Amino acid sequence: MGANLLVLGGTTEATALARALAERSVQATFSYAGRVETPRPQPIPHRVGGFGGVDGLATYLSDHNITHVIDATHPFAAQMSWNAFHACRQTGTPLLALTRAPWGAQTGDNWRHVPDMTGAVAALDGSAQRVMLALGRLHMDAFAAQPQHHYVLRLVDAPKIAPAVPHHTVVVARGPFSVVGDTALFKQHNIDMVVCKNAGGAGAEAKLHAARALGLPVVMIDRPDLPTRDNVATVEGVFDWLEGN
Ligand code: NAP
Repeated sequence: MGANLLVLGGTTEATALARALAERSVQATFSYAGRVETPRPQPIPHRVGGFGGVDGLATYLSDHNITHVIDATHPFAAQMSWNAFHACRQTGTPLLALTRAPWGAQTGDNWRHVPDMTGAVAALDGSAQRVMLALGRLHMDAFAAQPQHHYVLRLVDAPKIAPAVPHHTVVVARGPFSVVGDTALFKQHNIDMVVCKNAGGAGAEAKLHAARALGLPVVMIDRPDLPTRDNVATVEGVFDWLEGN
């Protein structure tokens, strides 16, 4: 029996992998959580929605004769990564993570590291500023606890329910973003400060270059704990790993 992969997606890297799998005619299914209204089309079959925890995923792997799982989720999608880790262990399915290295501060950067979203909210306890919140829909409401700021919210879809932060501007856009574009955006909105997650990778890095160029402080949310598993940083690395597993 040939390989039959499950790719846990939602990232630029997962999309690049799907393209490479299609080009090489490797059988694979792409899995979306279903967070955005119109997921990016993929050149391989896709499914949408949660599996139902560890047991649901383990059942899915067995029912669909999945031979390998590639966890190409966002590094902050820790729940999915832990579920994949346990479900693969339960079913004996080889698991590989396709992840990007975290970003590191460079000369000229002014980063304040915080361990999580709660820490980011607490870090904003000062006087009113114009804050670029590059965090996604799920986390922005937590910042209602610091209502003094004007928040610029960059979201993939226009929100159906008004954000809980009282002063805000919504910018609907989907990455990858450019340094020129992000610099212009920060200037246009008179941004004083950027809040973001340490996603790593190229697709969302532009905002850090823009912040450096404009001398803006960045509240950098460090990564959550992730399981220890085989790990590669490139699509080519996935194919090398498949040969040995
Ligand atoms: P999460 O908290 O780790 O996952 C919560 C639940 O959503 C999981 O337990 C699972 O439900 C379902 N889920 C997550 N990813 C899935 C996938 N690829 N396919 C099927 N079900 C999935 O995840 P999250 O942080 O909400 O992220 C959701 C998706 O958005 C991920 O695919 C991720 O790659 C992408 N994304 C996340 C971020 C971020 O900052 N977190 C940024 C960009 C993109 P069940 O337990 O029912 O299986």
